[in-house]
Amino acid sequence: MRVGNLEGRAVLVDGDRALDVERASGGQFGPNPQGVFDRWDQFRGWAAGQDPSAGEPFEVERLGPPVPRPPQVFGIGLNYRDHAEEADLEIPDEPMVFTKFPSSVTGPYAEVQLPSDRCDFEVELVVVIGRGGHRISPEQAWEHVAGLTVGQDLSDRRVQFRGKPPQFSMGKSFPGFAPIGPVLVTPDEFGDRDRLAIRCSSGEETLQDGTTADMIFPVAELITRLSAIVRLLPGDLIFTGTPAGVGAVRDPRRYLSPGEVIVSGIEGIGQMRTTLV
Ligand code: ZN
Repeated sequence: MRVGNLEGRAVLVDGDRALDVERASGGQFGPNPQGVFDRWDQFRGWAAGQDPSAGEPFEVERLGPPVPRPPQVFGIGLNYRDHAEEADLEIPDEPMVFTKFPSSVTGPYAEVQLPSDRCDFEVELVVVIGRGGHRISPEQAWEHVAGLTVGQDLSDRRVQFRGKPPQFSMGKSFPGFAPIGPVLVTPDEFGDRDRLAIRCSSGEETLQDGTTADMIFPVAELITRLSAIVRLLPGDLIFTGTPAGVGAVRDPRRYLSPGEVIVSGIEGIGQMRTTLV
């Protein structure tokens, strides 16, 4: 099942067709895309009986963020072995956690303003929480996942590293610094949900090309470790870290420029296109 946000309304998506949730459910579920997570189990049950290919054709550029107002947004630093190596940092024993403040969320075809000439790209698998919980076991963790989507953890390295200790949450929370989409895909849609090709490019240039199988703390482990401390809430996002290739650790460094369009994609989910201005 693929769930989207079409100009502010929750939809079920099949290819280029979208079924409006409020209309198809006769008002059982409201139009707000964030609202489906508060009643996720009921929503899934209802959606399983729908045929989104019977919906209206739409243009992908009209899609907004599938989770427009997440209560909490977790970011995980250094969660891929190849990225830890390129950054010349030790493999962490515990996930390194920061937040992207929720106002940084934007859609999959957004224009994002670059606040400086030190802005960097990080394509990431984003986990969306369906059923909330505290102290979730690894065996139960996937039961709490509504779905997966693509994200960009855009980062202003100047702000991120200007203090001691570094200011990850500030450097990664400018408006539009958390594009997500194009849709949320439920876990049952994937052959191997822990091994997905993940890629980011700018024009002909490949910026990042990896697999989520390289995660140091895979999705279930992250949910267990985060929820050991923080109660997870329906509609929360977890940005699960980025593979190798980011601009700040290249020689020479490779930052984003105005006018550039970056394409971020994950196998089985789709692609986002972010225009930097
Ligand atoms: Zn990141």
